[in-house]
Amino acid sequence: MSAFYTDPVHLVRGQGVWLWDADGRQYLDCYNNVPHVGHCHPRVVEAICRQAGTLNTHTRYLHEGILDYVEALTATFDAPFDTALLCCTGSEANDVALRMAQALTGKTGVIATDHTYHGNTTAVHQLSQTNPPPGGYWDSVVFVPAPDSYRPLGGEPGMAHAHAFAAEVAKQIAVLEDRGCGFSSLILDPFFANEGFPTLPHGWLDPVVAVVRKAGGVIIADEVQPGFGRVGSHFWGHQKIGLTPDIVTLGKPMANGHPVAAVVAPAQTMQAFRSRFRYFNTFGGNPVSAAAAMATLRVVQDEGLQANAAEVGAYALSGLRELATRHPAIGDVRGSGLFFGAEMVLDRGTKAPATAYVKALANGMRQRGVLLNFLGIHYNVLKIRPPMPFARAHVDQLIDTLDAVMTATPLA
Ligand code: PMP
Repeated sequence: MSAFYTDPVHLVRGQGVWLWDADGRQYLDCYNNVPHVGHCHPRVVEAICRQAGTLNTHTRYLHEGILDYVEALTATFDAPFDTALLCCTGSEANDVALRMAQALTGKTGVIATDHTYHGNTTAVHQLSQTNPPPGGYWDSVVFVPAPDSYRPLGGEPGMAHAHAFAAEVAKQIAVLEDRGCGFSSLILDPFFANEGFPTLPHGWLDPVVAVVRKAGGVIIADEVQPGFGRVGSHFWGHQKIGLTPDIVTLGKPMANGHPVAAVVAPAQTMQAFRSRFRYFNTFGGNPVSAAAAMATLRVVQDEGLQANAAEVGAYALSGLRELATRHPAIGDVRGSGLFFGAEMVLDRGTKAPATAYVKALANGMRQRGVLLNFLGIHYNVLKIRPPMPFARAHVDQLIDTLDAVMTATPLA
């Protein structure tokens, strides 16, 4: 694996939003969404230990744990999402979702954005342009430009940008139809997290939804990044943007670090998949995983973490905007809830990406005890996505440290 930072961090312990390295140095975690309810949350630890000490098998036997969890999970969705299949990684979930879309449409063509990441199985790896598959792309895979609210396609932000995006999707549907594989699905992260989380209004995906529906395709919403209340205003990223997808995939934060992922769909869609593809996953949905996922979901709900994300995230955005009044390298501040950041530029007029600068900032922050990273189409967007119990005092430490590191780091 390639480790983060030029001077990698050797972590040995975590608690809440804090991490400690092997030398006993403490770090503020502003990056990790997998420990969603905080590192080593006692309720999740206790649920895992209790279930591991009681029973762990696979899903060929009856067990209440998975059923209770799927009922609690689907209760957070709007109709008609009423069932789920559990697996172990986001990659697996997306791999299943692609086949579910095939079962529904009888076609194989897939459209993805050109700066996304959906995982690492052979099929899902085909959806990555940032890490092209050896041997090239299948005929059944095509791409559209990732939404960029700072440099919108067609030049105009908002709904003009939305219509330009929908027109690109329509163009690629025609390509898939010409190639004979037909159009099965559009897969996207409704928050476009890996693309740099552009600012897109509610309803922004409506034009593309109309294009997809007209062509008989389905929409897969990859909620691996924005889900479980992180965006603050809504529990799911698709709810925030006003999208009703056909299939939803989940992962990362789902069980606070225990490997749990899922595909959520209406029962009819699940039935179409099951009648077309046999599916069994040895570890997916085992009683310990279900207990870990249930405890995580209950903590999000009982501790009001979605509301905390909304409140603290808004405070953080205002802190970044204030910083932008003193640091011209900040070209754009954006995000929602506890997923936010700033796009760094060499010049606000040209918007030339300050890619080396943002990398130096991430390393500088690490040296001063604050862990964050960067991403985006030009890899010049600070990515801040802390555990959900992040509080205002943590934002203050983050902003003060960033101010100091930006002041100490030459822009070019
Ligand atoms: N989808 C998205 C949007 C992701 O960001 C990732 C992982 N970063 C995945 C899917 C893959 O998840 P996993 O690593 O659990 O396979």
